[in-house]
Amino acid sequence: MIIAIYPGSFDPITNGHIDIATRAVKLFDKLIVGVYETPQKYLLFNSDERVALARQALAHLPNVEVQKYSGLTVNFAKRVGAQVMVRGLRASSDFEREFDLAMMNKKFAPDLELVCLMTAIEYQFLSSTILKEAAWLGGDIEDFVPQHVVDALKERVGSGMKLGFTEKNMYSKTDPIP
Ligand code: ADP
Repeated sequence: MIIAIYPGSFDPITNGHIDIATRAVKLFDKLIVGVYETPQKYLLFNSDERVALARQALAHLPNVEVQKYSGLTVNFAKRVGAQVMVRGLRASSDFEREFDLAMMNKKFAPDLELVCLMTAIEYQFLSSTILKEAAWLGGDIEDFVPQHVVDALKERVGSGMKLGFTEKNMYSKTDPIP
């Protein structure tokens, strides 16, 4: 039985992520989507919210689980018994970062294989970061995320949150725009 993990921040899950997960479930017996708790980025949703949004978005797929994790991704892979790590590749900038990460991960976990799936052309320029900015500026985001994520983004943006760090690395209501 081949188990794969698909790790990321998923803040929030987008149609680009869903496309990668949909294709990955066809390749492996089980796919575990790993929601990394503390990425070095501005976060709009806490880890439980990101897990809940991802679970709902992927509920129609068989053999998919969503779990949050902290610490090294390779340790998460070991813990859940995964032999494969799946990543999505957009433009060349993703490739360089993934290449560096892959070299480091290979050192830590030589038996864990990396499988990179190319983005679907329509999601080539879609990232959670750009999506959050678009939501902030009142852009039409319906083509990029499922309806429950549209609703969650509108609710969060409408609540008056501003871009900024708190000690939990979350957007806060009070911090200034950086
Ligand atoms: P981001 O914040 O850049 O969207 P994540 O950490 O949530 O990134 O991404 C998790 C994984 O999904 C990474 O391998 C990333 O390259 C991939 N990914 C993100 N967006 C897309 C997309 N639009 N198409 C394909 N893969 C994607």
